[in-house]
Amino acid sequence: MTSFDRPHLYIGGEWVAPASTETIAVENPATEEVLGHVPAGTAADVDRAVAAARAAFDSWAGAPRAAVLDRLHTALAARAGDIARTVGLELGAPLKIAKAVQAGLPLAVLRSYADLAAQPASERTIGNSLIEHEPVGVVGAITPWNYPLHQVVAKVAAAMAAGCTVVLKPSELTPLVAFLLVDAAEEAGVPAGVLNVVTGTGPVVGAAIAGHPDVDMVSFTGSTATGRAVTHAAADRIAKVALELGGKSANVILEDADLPRAVKVGVGNAFLNSGQTCTAWTRMLVHRSHYDEAVALAAKTADGYTVGDPFDAETRLGPLVSRAQRDRVTGFIERATARRVTGERPLPDKGHFVAPTVFADVDPSSELAQEEIFGPVLSIIPFSSDDEAVAIANNSKYGLAGGVWGSDERALAVARRLRTGQVDVNGGSFNPAAPFGGYKQSGVGRELGEFGLAEFQQVKAIQR
Ligand code: NDP
Repeated sequence: MTSFDRPHLYIGGEWVAPASTETIAVENPATEEVLGHVPAGTAADVDRAVAAARAAFDSWAGAPRAAVLDRLHTALAARAGDIARTVGLELGAPLKIAKAVQAGLPLAVLRSYADLAAQPASERTIGNSLIEHEPVGVVGAITPWNYPLHQVVAKVAAAMAAGCTVVLKPSELTPLVAFLLVDAAEEAGVPAGVLNVVTGTGPVVGAAIAGHPDVDMVSFTGSTATGRAVTHAAADRIAKVALELGGKSANVILEDADLPRAVKVGVGNAFLNSGQTCTAWTRMLVHRSHYDEAVALAAKTADGYTVGDPFDAETRLGPLVSRAQRDRVTGFIERATARRVTGERPLPDKGHFVAPTVFADVDPSSELAQEEIFGPVLSIIPFSSDDEAVAIANNSKYGLAGGVWGSDERALAVARRLRTGQVDVNGGSFNPAAPFGGYKQSGVGRELGEFGLAEFQQVKAIQR
């Protein structure tokens, strides 16, 4: 037993024994040591959790919810230090990012949903119709490992605020932080059955949730390939699906941009969380007039990043989450034919580390520029005109995010032409209340703020 062992599932407001005695070992990716174990849930556990969520639905859908979410926020905020430490251990996120983003962001999102739940219901009419918003029902939430609490809260808080009940399956690689949310929910008095957690693998627990006849909506974040499988599983019963999937975002640096800032912020964005970020600006598009300077600046910036122990204050890049992810990322690097402009460097003997890697002169249609690598790998591509920059940026099966740098009006005009759900102009900061989601194969639907809440609602028209 370690202090991180969590032998039970949380179903119907109780810690219950799982149907199987099998467990999943959770690894610290920086040391390769086992941190603890969680249950390897089964379809029988999912059945039980869905039944608990169904039983709680009518009462929760009709209940005032703002005070509960407010108390949940207070209880989760009291655990901010534990959250940062847990994500630092199970994901390898450097402490500074773990505190600011991995703990700070879900708290901001939960706060925004507590506030939205406190707003009076809209009394909109269209002609003789009264328009009402109702919760969609029992929600199955399936989340990945890269922002393990944020992705959970973006679904759970929005669904709860809308009046839905939830069965959550966190990533098998980073399940521990989800238990801190359950601890907070217990302390906050979230009614039994409103939030249920079944840990386990995607092909067993995730697939059972996606295909469950009594799950009304599946909200999924992860790879496009798994998003497709989840959609197929939900299609037979015409269940609603919301998908937040991959990305290959472009950072467009126009000829009149503040180049040093655009490159520095761009490299930081691409390598945030060791590059394991769906919105990461992994393609840096630079006007030819500043191209060589930008390449040199990007290489210098990347070479200046400290890689290593997530709990060392100097560390900018921790490990990747698993050996499989590291092997996948190094495979992309080894196959690349573009010009590598960052140096090799010694890496720790233990742990799944990859050096920050910058390639220049990348062919926009090559694997490096087209596939989501999900590691610290940046591709730099030159362009000659705004039109060409837009064409290269939009030459992607993905459409999640992007950046544009240049004089305000010109940068805004380019931002409007990008086929993506979000664009930051001149370093505009992340807004946790703004709609977040993708065009094309980056997803379906939106998360966060009022648009994220609406995703978990049905609209009813009553004629009088
Ligand atoms: P997945 O999409 O497979 O994992 C996301 C979640 O889906 C996990 O909880 C996973 O479970 C679950 N899952 C897996 N298979 C199924 C299934 N058949 N039915 C239902 N749920 C399932 O991502 P990976 O972890 O395999 O990462 C692979 C690549 O995906 C990354 O390299 C990256 O490119 C991309 N990715 C993108 C993310 C994003 O935010 N856009 C996030 C994570 C990954 P389990 O716990 O077993 O993994």
